[in-house]
Amino acid sequence: MNTVRDRIPVSQLQDAPDPSDRSGPMSLSLIIPCRNEARNLAVLLPQLCQWLPRLAARWEVVLVDDGSTDDTSKVMAEWARLPGFRALQLSRNFGKEAALTAGLEAAAGDVVVMMDADLQHPPALVEEMIARWREGADVVYAIRESREDEPAFKRIGTRMFYKLLNQFHRFEVPEGAGDFRLLDRQAVNALLALPERNRFMKGLYAWIGFKAVPLPYMPAPRAHGRTHFSKRSLFRLSIDGLTAFANWPLRIVGALGVLLALASFAYGGYLTFLYMLYGHNISGWTTIVVALMLFSGVQMIFLGIIGEYIARIFEEVKGRPLYLVRRELGQGLAAQTR
Ligand code: UDP
Ligand code: MG
Repeated sequence: MNTVRDRIPVSQLQDAPDPSDRSGPMSLSLIIPCRNEARNLAVLLPQLCQWLPRLAARWEVVLVDDGSTDDTSKVMAEWARLPGFRALQLSRNFGKEAALTAGLEAAAGDVVVMMDADLQHPPALVEEMIARWREGADVVYAIRESREDEPAFKRIGTRMFYKLLNQFHRFEVPEGAGDFRLLDRQAVNALLALPERNRFMKGLYAWIGFKAVPLPYMPAPRAHGRTHFSKRSLFRLSIDGLTAFANWPLRIVGALGVLLALASFAYGGYLTFLYMLYGHNISGWTTIVVALMLFSGVQMIFLGIIGEYIARIFEEVKGRPLYLVRRELGQGLAAQTR
């Protein structure tokens, strides 16, 4: 019996790449979003030069300068002269999510790893990530072993946020997983195909699915400088995440409206009953004022919630680009021969 295999010359069979075969040489793109990280880059990049050639046959480092005001762009420009290093300078600060998206769009590797510039993400873990990828994982995400190193308010806030975010979903955004992760080319393409402007990456990673494997780690303390995420910006990021991945706040608005209407009917009935029992009763000024303030307050909150969603719709409808590139330097994988 003739099978397809019989009809194709053996030499050709060997050449045909098998997408599920991950044992061969692969190309690796490392994306590093940077905002004012000149001092950290000066430490991190020489380290990368040491261990990247050991990890992959072909590699590139995509440095994204997210509107830095220090020497970051200068440091990047110097490094971009070396083979394998690319620098993408955005036209202003667009935020980490946009910087990561810029890096993902620029990356050409079979496998993409994203890591921070501040040396909080141990490079040794990347080797382990690649090992998991070879074993068949499409996404390998580093997950914090504990949050002991964080202040209590942040721990409690994070816990609440993930509880709220993960209500009524078919997928779960894992708590403690950040942007330090490996993505297979297929997963990268899936992420890039998502059209939304509000890019709450942690939600998008979970939404695309694929075979995702956690890898526990403990982030090191930041080498130089301070975190870019203040309480306020974390709160804003959490509202972005909730509005993008949860519509239960809108349902709660409706449900509470119904409850309040029912309560007012009941109260009206009760008052009528009192009137019938005791006759005309003019007292109740306090009740009216309290009820008026309570319900106008509740209405304002509801309008605010609806407003948050409408503002997001407005952002999406405008369809502005996620980021603008001012300058692109260096050559990455595209310049290397296979
Ligand atoms: N970052 C960025 N754009 C920003 C804020 C941060 O590209 O607007 C980068 C930053 O340079 C770093 C990474 O995102 O490489 C993580 O930032 P940070 O260390 O401040 O966050 P944390 O580790 O505290 O969550
Ligand atoms: Mg950090």
